Amino acid sequence: MHAPPRHVYVHVPFCRHRCGYCDFALVAGRDDLIDRYFAALARELERLPPVSAAACLELATLYVGGGTPSHLGPDGLRRLFDLLRTRLVPVAGAEITVEANPLDVTDAFVAAAQECGVTRVSLGGQSLDAATLRALDRDHAPDDVRAAVGRLRDAHLTVNLDLMTAAPGQTRAAVERDLDAAVALDVQHVSVYCLTWEKGTAFDAARRRGQLAPVDDDLERAMFETAIDRLEAAGFEHYEVSNFARPGHRCRHNEAYWDLRPWEAFGPGAARFDGRTRITNHRSPTTWMKGVLAGGECVGDVDAMTAAAAARERLVVGLRRRDGIERRAFRAASGHEIDALAGPAIARWVTQRFATDDGNRIRLTRDGLLVSDGLWADVLADR
Ligand code: SF4
Repeated sequence: MHAPPRHVYVHVPFCRHRCGYCDFALVAGRDDLIDRYFAALARELERLPPVSAAACLELATLYVGGGTPSHLGPDGLRRLFDLLRTRLVPVAGAEITVEANPLDVTDAFVAAAQECGVTRVSLGGQSLDAATLRALDRDHAPDDVRAAVGRLRDAHLTVNLDLMTAAPGQTRAAVERDLDAAVALDVQHVSVYCLTWEKGTAFDAARRRGQLAPVDDDLERAMFETAIDRLEAAGFEHYEVSNFARPGHRCRHNEAYWDLRPWEAFGPGAARFDGRTRITNHRSPTTWMKGVLAGGECVGDVDAMTAAAAARERLVVGLRRRDGIERRAFRAASGHEIDALAGPAIARWVTQRFATDDGNRIRLTRDGLLVSDGLWADVLADR
């Protein structure tokens, strides 16, 4: 038996506008579906015991993502938390994150977030440069990001700022300016992602037509190294490939994912995990609503891992963290010896200077982190 999940993800699948690079599970311009979404979410939450039950779920972290949860507005946010409180009991000091678009972060929204017990807002800023925001097809301006961060910081909320690199036409100097601007905003956490060109997006179609071009690999790598250098110099810990935190401000919800602790998840495309099996809801918001309202759940995919596969997953997510993996702790958590799973791959990475291994702890080097997505196939190949 696994301990009950103490971490919950809720997916809110609404956006005002679909950004050209985005392939997330969402609908844009379909606010007429919001009532139906709430009805389906209420039904899906019935999977959990009610708060009055002895076995109710005590919550250490909650992450409300999307889509754009802030698109629900202040009253919609209250409605969402009223519903969640029927099934979830936050423990004292619980981390409660809501994702927000800078345009939605009004005084009224911040007040509602505080009433709802939100402790942390993850802001989809992406850039503080007008040309980069236009290139990313975003619907906000740099001053909207500054105003949103100011309101959130005035309300003593923890702020994560998402930044994107490798946008079409973006220069390394523009990335440097973004990083300096993010540091000047005094946020506690920054996530830096390279633009990916997902199949089926407007960006991918424009690339095929020759209207948009990805930045070249060397520049993309240089941008990411710049991010590491600037943010570390400003006092941020680079604690996972894409994530940087001021001391004491790591995202505890993401750390639960990376520790492969069990978590619950609700909403279209949301994936839950019981320690061995990952169950992902249907990605289509409308199909999910229809299925849940008809039968209580609407699953799209079930990945039942063997113990060895779960251990390999632990290895991959563990190595994305700068702290790396400690052999003894890995054995205790997974029941597997790391060297039996991936010894040859790790030895290769050490020779290639992608990893260090002091006999106890294995860590990726900066070079290893920069190519990490290309390393995991080695672990899977060493079966
Ligand atoms: S706001 Fe975020 S979730 Fe919504 S379309 Fe843009 S990138 Fe996707």
